[in-house]
Amino acid sequence: MSLKDALLGLLFPPVCLLCGEREEKDGLCASCRKKFARETFLRCPVCHETADRCLCGTDLLRGANTELAGRRFLALTWYVPVKNAAEEPDRVTEKMILMLKDRASFADFFAGELARELNRLFEQAGEDPREWTVSFCPRSAERFMKTGFDQSEEIARRVSKKLGCPAENLFVRVTESEEQKNLGGSERKANARDSILLRKSRFRRGSKVLLIDDILTTGATVSSCAGLLVEAGASKVFPAVLSRALTKEKR
Ligand SMILES: [Zn+2]
Ligand SMILES: [Zn+2]
Repeated sequence: MSLKDALLGLLFPPVCLLCGEREEKDGLCASCRKKFARETFLRCPVCHETADRCLCGTDLLRGANTELAGRRFLALTWYVPVKNAAEEPDRVTEKMILMLKDRASFADFFAGELARELNRLFEQAGEDPREWTVSFCPRSAERFMKTGFDQSEEIARRVSKKLGCPAENLFVRVTESEEQKNLGGSERKANARDSILLRKSRFRRGSKVLLIDDILTTGATVSSCAGLLVEAGASKVFPAVLSRALTKEKR
């Protein structure tokens, strides 16, 4: 740190991006960090499991060939959709994920949380993280043009550094046609695969791939990416997402 930065730090100590209190680390104060941690313990109202155990509404993921230490995927926490957010005005997770999407805020925080959990799972599974490649489910070209970055890529690059393994941009999302936009929910899910392609030149047969995404709703995107990897000869695929969208009723 330069002298100038040190002086500026004294005059204007870094503040929490959520509440403006004094920052502790990675853009968060101690109390907002605690709130985030508390929110990870929320249970699914349908199956009463935590975010990383609940499989409600994820039929596609259930069929996907993903596994690490007996888990189908890793999810750090829940994302409570906006219509329910008014019931929980104090929640911090949704605000943090929105700021991540808009400005890549909290990328260090989320990458740190993911890497810690992944290291635990790798250890349980007897896997060496250095033999894995970190990739991510791509956001739409339209969104990328608007913000200039892909939040999942930001997380993937940081996670790869923390785990000591390579990161690779393995997928490309092709623009959905007007036709596709007019389709209903279930048809769109069935067609999700058509809009994501694997960059075969960057992929090695037999490789093990960690698949990063920010919010998992039905698991359609993650399943499409996982399916493409398995088809192309990946020996292992494991999705690691920041949050599961919480559903209040059975789908
Ligand atoms: Zn705060
Ligand atoms: Zn559930």
